[in-house]
Parts: sequence; C-alpha cells; structure tokens
Amino acid sequence: MRLLIMGAPGAGKGTQATALAERYGVPAISTGDIFRHHIRNQTPLGIKVKALIDAGEYVPDDVTEEIVASRLAEDDCAGGFLLDGFPRTMHQVHFLDRYLADRGQSLDAVVSLHVEPDALVERLLTRAALEGRADDNADTIRRRMEVYAGQTAPLIFHYESKGLLVDVEGTGSVEDVRERMFDMVDAHVRER
Ligand code: AMP
Repeated sequence: MRLLIMGAPGAGKGTQATALAERYGVPAISTGDIFRHHIRNQTPLGIKVKALIDAGEYVPDDVTEEIVASRLAEDDCAGGFLLDGFPRTMHQVHFLDRYLADRGQSLDAVVSLHVEPDALVERLLTRAALEGRADDNADTIRRRMEVYAGQTAPLIFHYESKGLLVDVEGTGSVEDVRERMFDMVDAHVRER
C-alpha cells in the first residue's frame, strides 16, 4: 500500500496517519517530523530550515524532495509507505509521480482530511499549549493555513483527476474519524 495523507494544520493528520500506517503495516513518514528531528539535533539541515519552519513557511522543494527520496529508498518502504505532509506543492507532486513511475510503482490512495477553519484554529492553539511547539502561535497558525489553502487546492485536483482521492470528513472524535477513514480507504482499495 502506497498512501498519502493530506490535511490542514490541526486536522488531526498526524494521529490518523499513525493509525492508517498501522492498519496497512507500512511506515508513516512525516516530513514535518523529519525536519523537527533535524532541528532538535542541530544538524546542518536543521540549522538551514529552522527559521523557515518557525515562520510557517515551506522548506524549499529541492531540499524536501531529497529528504523524501532518501527516506523512501530505505528497506522498510519496499512494501509500501504512508507519506504525511508530503507532497505539499505541485513540484513535489510531479517529483513523487516521477519517482514512483521510475520504479514501476504508483499510489493506491490519497486521503484528504477535511475540517472547518474555525475548528482548526481552536485545535491548533490547544496543541500549542500542550506541546509547546514553537511554530504554533496565532500568527504562525494563520500563516500556515493561508499557505496550506493556497497551495493544496491544485494537489487535491490532481489526485482527484487520477481517481486516487479519498475525501474524509475530519470532524468528530479521533475514533469516529479513524473508523470513517478506514471504511473509506478499504472501500476505495477494493474498488480499484
Ligand atoms: P507539519 O508537521 O507537516 O505541519 O510540518 C511542519 C513544517 O515543516 C511545515 O510548516 C513546513 O515548514 C515544513 N514542511 C513539512 N513538510 C513539508 C513539505 N512537504 N514541503 C515544504 N515544507 C514542509
């Protein structure tokens, strides 16, 4: 199973990504987590991307794509993977399409988690307080949501036109959303 999960900041993407990856026995790969790991460890990459991430801006495509390519080349991705937070731009979409095509592979489903903007801001402020994430303050949240909205629409359209999109309503309890998502992904994969 080769899966993507997309969703605005605060849509519960990380939590549902973990659940989805476990269900299908594939590694969950979060580019945000990889970047945060590098920042914590003050690697050259971490030092390079910290200011951008703290400001709610995207890391450049070439940097992000290189990280993903080397992660997908690891042994645990041979049987599939779930990408969380990648691709986020059309450049990254085309990169991934090419990367997979070169290996005779393709995606099975692209899950899009949908939550109303007001509910998102509320969730993000709660998370900022709980986790102390430096990139979760009101200004950064607003900036990240603008960036997300502006850049994601064409991605959704691309995957929809390829018949890969599984649009999941992300409002409700974590358990409800998870069951809804499992049912929809299972049905999608069965129909393919
Ligand atoms: P996330 O945890 O997925 O919300 O990612 C946190 C931050 O990491 C984002 O706000 C971006 O600054 C950066 N980031 C993560 N994934 C990507 C990506 N695919 N392209 C560019 N920047 C990314």
